[in-house]
Amino acid sequence: MLRSEVRKTSINLNEVYTSIQGEGLLLGTPSLFIRVQGCNLRCPWCDQPSALSFRDSPVRLDDLLELVETYPHKHVVITGGEPFTEEALPELVKELIKRGKSLQIETNGTLWQEALEGTAHKVHITCSPKAVANWEVHPKIREYARELKFVVDESLSLEVLFSFKDFLQKGCVVLQPEGNKGHFLERALNLQNQLLSLGYQVRVIPQVHKLLGLK
Ligand code: SF4
Repeated sequence: MLRSEVRKTSINLNEVYTSIQGEGLLLGTPSLFIRVQGCNLRCPWCDQPSALSFRDSPVRLDDLLELVETYPHKHVVITGGEPFTEEALPELVKELIKRGKSLQIETNGTLWQEALEGTAHKVHITCSPKAVANWEVHPKIREYARELKFVVDESLSLEVLFSFKDFLQKGCVVLQPEGNKGHFLERALNLQNQLLSLGYQVRVIPQVHKLLGLK
């Protein structure tokens, strides 16, 4: 058996919880969130600092799948941390698809796992390129992502957005003001207007779950 075919039986899990999807194109969808532990980046405004470092005590994948079955939610969001740091990600995706779940992965876009090649097209991949990674996105994520979500702070520019022209043309770019702050909302609306005058329509969407006081 190839090393890549060995079934990963444990996962670095941070938490499992339910809420609405409060960000991006699938806004409002009732969702079961699986947050994995560990990230390869360190964004200055990261709102999940407890999910950044790896833990010593991973949970059994079978136990996680059993827990997922206890929820009625059809939509499952795998988030982090950075899901692509998780070796069991392909196995988790395969098992959730087998159970009829609609799947979304939220990623910073810098990493990829070959074992996802056969299933990635079935997943709504939301890629959020990061300034700390020089906006780098792995070619495979670029191929499969259905949505690009940019956190708008002082580092996001028109030039950066234009380096993702293929996504601008497809109309699947979201601008999310960092921390729902007023001056970043203003900046997002400004970028939206500039893009509009050039013929591109992008959405400005805040973190709605936070506005509603939800997790
Ligand atoms: S990529 Fe996401 S989880 Fe990682 S540091 Fe940045 S915001 Fe936090």
